[in-house]
Amino acid sequence: MNCLFCRIASGELPAKLVHEDDYLVAFHDINPQAPVHVLIVPRRHIATLNEVSADDDELVGAMLRRAAVIARNLGIAERGYRTVFNCNREAGQTVFHLHLHVLGGRPMHWPPG
Ligand code: 5GP
Ligand code: ZN
Repeated sequence: MNCLFCRIASGELPAKLVHEDDYLVAFHDINPQAPVHVLIVPRRHIATLNEVSADDDELVGAMLRRAAVIARNLGIAERGYRTVFNCNREAGQTVFHLHLHVLGGRPMHWPPG
């Protein structure tokens, strides 16, 4: 298994976990772009959002609802936060295992860079 996030999800590589359950793990980004920067990843390998199917609706819903719980737990829910799936190269995806970014703790700009 040479996928970085598969290895973190299985516990083979360490990460600062903020949540784990049967389907998801969430951990702090190693190179945070905001005071709070958490990644939520499914345990099952899915490369990009383009590979998500209708069978995954519950999984993706769980990722988004988990983002809101983590934002609340980390104290940024009321101020505001951003959730991002980068899909493929032009969006800046560098790890090809589906992940949801949760960013907050500073003002977020729009449009994004
Ligand atoms: P992407 O650019 O693919 O949307 O996001 C990948 C994210 O994974 C980046 O924000 C990057 O900092 C983070 N990342 C890369 N390698 C590691 C790692 O080994 N551990 C953790 N916790 N985050 C990582
Ligand atoms: Zn993977």
